[in-house]
Amino acid sequence: MARNRYPGYCYCCGAYVPTGYGHFERHKGGWRVKCVKCASGRTVKDTDKEVKRAIMLRDKQKEVRKNGR
Ligand SMILES: [Zn+2]
Repeated sequence: MARNRYPGYCYCCGAYVPTGYGHFERHKGGWRVKCVKCASGRTVKDTDKEVKRAIMLRDKQKEVRKNGR
């Protein structure tokens, strides 16, 4: 599952999920975010390569498209 590129609130526990700290899912034509803790029980850190990758992808996309959705 891919990491979220946009921050949001976990639909399971309601926690704030920064970029790369959760997974995103297609839901009713939009996206919803689930934190990694709910998904797999892992604790995420800023230094995780998945987090860095999600931030990198987000920033790259921002340059190409002004509007993400
Ligand atoms: Zn959660």
